Amino acid sequence: MPQSATVNRRLVLVASPKGEPTADTFRLESVPVPTPGPGQVLLRTLWLSLDPYMRVRIYETDGYMPSVKPGEVMVGGTVSEVVASNHDGYQVGDLVQAYSGWQDYALSSGEDIIVKLPKTARQPSLYLGSLGMPGFTAWYALNQIGKPKAGETFVVAAATGAVGQIIGQLAKRAGCRVVGIAGGADKCAYAVKELGFDACVDHRGADLPARLKAACPNGIDIYMENVGGPVFDAVLPLMNMNSRMPVCGLISHYSGAGLGGADRLPGFLTEALFKRMKIEGFIIFDQYPAHYGHFLAEMTAPIEAGDVKIREHVVNGLDAAPQGFIELLGGGNFGKVVVKVA
Ligand code: NDP
Repeated sequence: MPQSATVNRRLVLVASPKGEPTADTFRLESVPVPTPGPGQVLLRTLWLSLDPYMRVRIYETDGYMPSVKPGEVMVGGTVSEVVASNHDGYQVGDLVQAYSGWQDYALSSGEDIIVKLPKTARQPSLYLGSLGMPGFTAWYALNQIGKPKAGETFVVAAATGAVGQIIGQLAKRAGCRVVGIAGGADKCAYAVKELGFDACVDHRGADLPARLKAACPNGIDIYMENVGGPVFDAVLPLMNMNSRMPVCGLISHYSGAGLGGADRLPGFLTEALFKRMKIEGFIIFDQYPAHYGHFLAEMTAPIEAGDVKIREHVVNGLDAAPQGFIELLGGGNFGKVVVKVA
């Protein structure tokens, strides 16, 4: 650890927000840097990942994982450097993909270390994006649930985000017609011109259902559900016979927004039944033991080579993480959000 570093800055949850998180949702604290005990390493955070799932992790009641409680350090994936080690498997200077949370330093027994980065890693922050959780999510959802066939139509919303930018490119490589849905003209232009999507529809404009239908003349065979809300309403009537829908995320509802109006459930289930749709929810954290190694073996080379394009949205400084998180939830990010901590 740098000689001068005696202080660990960390962001703790103040209280579970009722609607959208605000600047008051988190509090910055300074505490002493901890000392590693037997079998432990001390990790210094270089990069922190900001992800939509974090909104679910600050619910008052537990969701798919236990909630962060008031006063606890906010959870989050990191790329960290080993700065002290009492663990045979890690040496000072190793870079690791870990789960240190929103803080400068963390102790680890090694159990929360997902992988040691290869010395050849071109850009360590990619291990929070394309080679980390979002990239793995994209790869898993497409191959294990979507099961694309050449010529099929694949649709993804939040198309230029962490998951969307990867899964769209993978679907394109599998021979699909790829249609993105994104917020704003700049993101849509990027999806087509840079990511190589066949079309992209702005969900913030008027008459989304008609514009999406025009972009999908043969209907939709695979819809990667990232957002829910009015986007889902526009997608559902276009789903084809035997279509597949990996249910990945519902960001439009994470802070409690509903849809109002008539009950949509009968219409939804009727579509699912009549069209023999396969709808499968998944939580990627369950899939690491069985699939993450396979994902890295397949995707490291094309991503390191730049064959899959990556756009990062860099937030500077740990203290800027809460604002970066708030903007992410509102679509203020353009690419995978990473915080440069050190
Ligand atoms: P992104 O980088 O795509 O960022 C979130 C994006 O969501 C925003 O940029 C915005 O994009 C879009 N968005 C926000 N609010 C709305 C809204 N009301 N309607 C439509 N779009 C909206 O995030 P990720 O790629 O990291 O995550 C995408 C989804 O996948 C999330 O729901 C996330 O929770 C989920 N996820 C689930 C995992 C699992 O294990 N099941 C693992 C990883 C992610 P735009 O401006 O283009 O609308």
